[in-house]
Amino acid sequence: MVVKPRIRSFICLTAHPEGCAENVRQQIQYVKSKGTIENGPKRVLVIGCSTGYGLSSRIAAAFGSGAETIGIAFEKPSDKGKTASPGWYNNVAFQEEAKKANLTALTLNGDAFSNEMKQETIQKIKDTIGKVDQVIYSLASPRRTDPATGETFKATLKPIGEPFENKNLNTDKKVVDIVSLKPATEEEIQNTIKVMGGEDWELWMKALADADVLEEGVETIAYSYIGPEVTWPIYTNGTIGQAKSDLDRAAKAINQQLSSLKGEALVSINKAVVTQASSAIPVVPLYISILFKIMMAAGNHEGCIEQMDRLYRDFNNLSKDDKGRLRLDDWEMLPEIQEKVAGNWVRVNTDTLSEYADFDAYHSDFLRLFGFGIDGVDYEADVEVDLPMPA
Ligand code: NAD
Repeated sequence: MVVKPRIRSFICLTAHPEGCAENVRQQIQYVKSKGTIENGPKRVLVIGCSTGYGLSSRIAAAFGSGAETIGIAFEKPSDKGKTASPGWYNNVAFQEEAKKANLTALTLNGDAFSNEMKQETIQKIKDTIGKVDQVIYSLASPRRTDPATGETFKATLKPIGEPFENKNLNTDKKVVDIVSLKPATEEEIQNTIKVMGGEDWELWMKALADADVLEEGVETIAYSYIGPEVTWPIYTNGTIGQAKSDLDRAAKAINQQLSSLKGEALVSINKAVVTQASSAIPVVPLYISILFKIMMAAGNHEGCIEQMDRLYRDFNNLSKDDKGRLRLDDWEMLPEIQEKVAGNWVRVNTDTLSEYADFDAYHSDFLRLFGFGIDGVDYEADVEVDLPMPA
């Protein structure tokens, strides 16, 4: 069938299989063009491997460092003529490219929060690569069922303490409007921590350690974000920020747990990029559109693959903050970048959007997430949408 984008607010209901595959191939090409990553991990588990930062981590580990990878994601296959989710097609493409490159790769589809998926993963590690020397934790989910109680918790994106009102980009209408958000209740804060905090990361590391599938010196990295003051009420000081600080707590706990293996748990603060997760956060798409314009002009703009390539390639030279977190957002947070962002934030409105922000860059990255707008893909051609996951 011929697949066209059907966008509804911050989601696209369709995904282009060939476009997603080309996006994966271009990311692989980027990593290969930079040459081999020396001293990188060799057996990597990526939890949240299908899109965004997790996919790019897997690509950098596999095609830069030659790592065998096991990836976990929660994606929808094609059903009754509907396209699969983009992460499904990305995983198919990753598997195919890994096979061509003779790299062991296995992708498991299901709920990473469940005990069953943890046990299945452990079994697959034992059956295939034996042990892992790196675990990437890159989940972004709106809900989580606690495996201990069966209770399902929902995350919210709200400020804490006070209502919040600020500029926002209506990406459907290309209009700068105002978003007003009521503060979260205590329950909403706790539920968001339950979904996006560090509990599941800890459960994963404990399950993997108990099953003896972690190499000595294992490293585990979870991704987080801080960003500038303009986004703090909704991000860092909001419900999601509380969940992210719980990752810092979890990193300490995991570090203790891994001490006998001489392992390390790290939080990496990554740059703001366009992903399905970030598109859903109020205010953030406008901030990203402004940031992209400024970083592109400064020549230090990065997307997921550039960030993750840098994570692996420059691992030992990356800056860390006083909490021991890796700061891959170092270029985003440069004072000269953030001063310009703050100035443009004040000036931007619907009429001045193209002067102070790069909506086209935002929108083009958004379309790419779903495999659209990618050079070299024939969008008028009939494509098979029902693709099985290769073994
Ligand atoms: P994303 O939406 O692109 O990816 C989320 C991944 O999680 C997908 O692979 C999805 O399949 C998987 N997933 C979701 N629920 C799952 C479940 N129940 N079981 C198994 N897999 C599941 O998101 P992203 O933006 O790449 O976010 C990844 C991490 O990076 C998050 O912790 C996010 O906070 C962090 N981060 C993102 C940004 C940004 O700007 N996007 C910046 C800094 C840090």
